[in-house]
Amino acid sequence: MAKMYYAADCDMKKLDGKVVTIIGYGSQGHAHAKNLKDSGINVVVGLRPTGKSWEAAKADGFEVLPVAEAAKKGDIVMMLIPDELQAEVYAKEIEPNLKPGSALAFAHGFNVRYSYIKPPAGVDVFLAAPKGPGHTVRSQFVEGFGVPSLIAVEVNATGEAKETALAYLAGIGGARAGILETTFKEETETDLFGEQTVLCGGVVDLMRAGFEVLTEAGYSKEAAYFECVHELKLIIDLVNKFGVSGMDFSISDTAEYGQYVSGPRVVPLDTVKENMRGVLADIQDGTFAKNWVEEHKSGRPLFTKKREEIRQHAMELTGKDLREKMNWGVNNIDLV
Ligand code: NAD
Ligand code: MG
Repeated sequence: MAKMYYAADCDMKKLDGKVVTIIGYGSQGHAHAKNLKDSGINVVVGLRPTGKSWEAAKADGFEVLPVAEAAKKGDIVMMLIPDELQAEVYAKEIEPNLKPGSALAFAHGFNVRYSYIKPPAGVDVFLAAPKGPGHTVRSQFVEGFGVPSLIAVEVNATGEAKETALAYLAGIGGARAGILETTFKEETETDLFGEQTVLCGGVVDLMRAGFEVLTEAGYSKEAAYFECVHELKLIIDLVNKFGVSGMDFSISDTAEYGQYVSGPRVVPLDTVKENMRGVLADIQDGTFAKNWVEEHKSGRPLFTKKREEIRQHAMELTGKDLREKMNWGVNNIDLV
């Protein structure tokens, strides 16, 4: 059983008198920066002076500096810019400016796992990764909760890397929920696998297929949207809180019988698992990482085409229309 840590295992005093530099002010960046600041920690934000986030971070009351200067100040430097940009920014602006005995931190192990960033000598390297979107990391913190998080130490130069990482996770609220110990390799590979096969890749295509089958059969777009997209969250909320058995307890026996007989027709386990193993193999041998880095470098042709296709899809347009007409109380998530 993997080791778990909670608030009582974390000593935030470890960050007294230290500066935490947050590089990037997007989904994760704004959440880490604000949560740490609210926890009484001294935060500096590192950005491109020409970027859109610069003004946003300033308006939120942070000291904002160009990346190189911010990195110089940091006792902990947390990399929260997009994974595909980190290697270049790191080589040019961060590596030459890291203080000896400081810590380089990540919220995803991608660049370290695939060696796009090689840990520098004399610096701790750790992972402090909330297992949730950045906007939820912030909204949960504000409500007094936290998002379950992962911790991993790649390099323990100071002998205290784990204590520093635990203090950091306490500062962003992760310790309130629980912190699971892992490695950069395990976090990277399971994270990529989960988002590709189940959470994003799998689920979006499943919703889309359901929506298309119903609308192509002549049912209304609105009915199809509610059934195959909107209700997913309500079902998953039950799974999240009570497990699949708890969800099955709440739904009707008719729905539960349908789950048992039709689930395997739609998702034939043997075939689907074989397909998933193919995805996992590409993640493990670095093929996916290489393809993504190349896609990004060549101007993202596939990425842009697919993103536009989804934006124009009837499922998305129907959802937008319905959200404008109805009050759904979708938590208090703010997509800033
Ligand atoms: P994002 O795309 O939301 O953040 C982009 C930020 O980086 C912006 O503030 C932008 O101005 C800044 N930026 C972009 N290029 C820059 C440059 N060249 N120099 C300086 N700043 C630059 O990123 P994100 O989704 O928050 O992801 C950050 C990290 O967190 C990644 O490692 C990602 O894997 C990890 N992560 C993200 C999530 C999530 O919820 N999005 C969840 C878990 C882990
Ligand atoms: Mg993920």
